Amino acid sequence: MHELGLVYQVVKTVDEVVKQNGLQQVDEMVLQVGEMSDVVPRFIEEAWRATAPTTDYPCAKMTVEIMPAMAKCLDCGYEGHVNSFAPDCPSCQSSMLKITSGRQFDIKEIIAK
Ligand SMILES: [Zn+2]
Repeated sequence: MHELGLVYQVVKTVDEVVKQNGLQQVDEMVLQVGEMSDVVPRFIEEAWRATAPTTDYPCAKMTVEIMPAMAKCLDCGYEGHVNSFAPDCPSCQSSMLKITSGRQFDIKEIIAK
């Protein structure tokens, strides 16, 4: 379960932000996970529940936002949502797609005071 490693990375980043901004308390961390990334949001939440008590933010929430798989078709110019498991162009069935979104794993927001 590599989600545990990702959660550690997030906590490390949050630690830095907290230190740099002199924050007292982290209430929530909002992550953006692409639906084509191999990250399972449920595992992220489970990994956080296991990790939280060992961090400085045991009561913080970790929220995962799923980002849809988006692509541009290099054949017909279609731009929009594609099937995340077998991406092909919904308009012309071409597989010549440029994935524009859906593979990211980002911290969108840290809600803290
Ligand atoms: Zn197309």
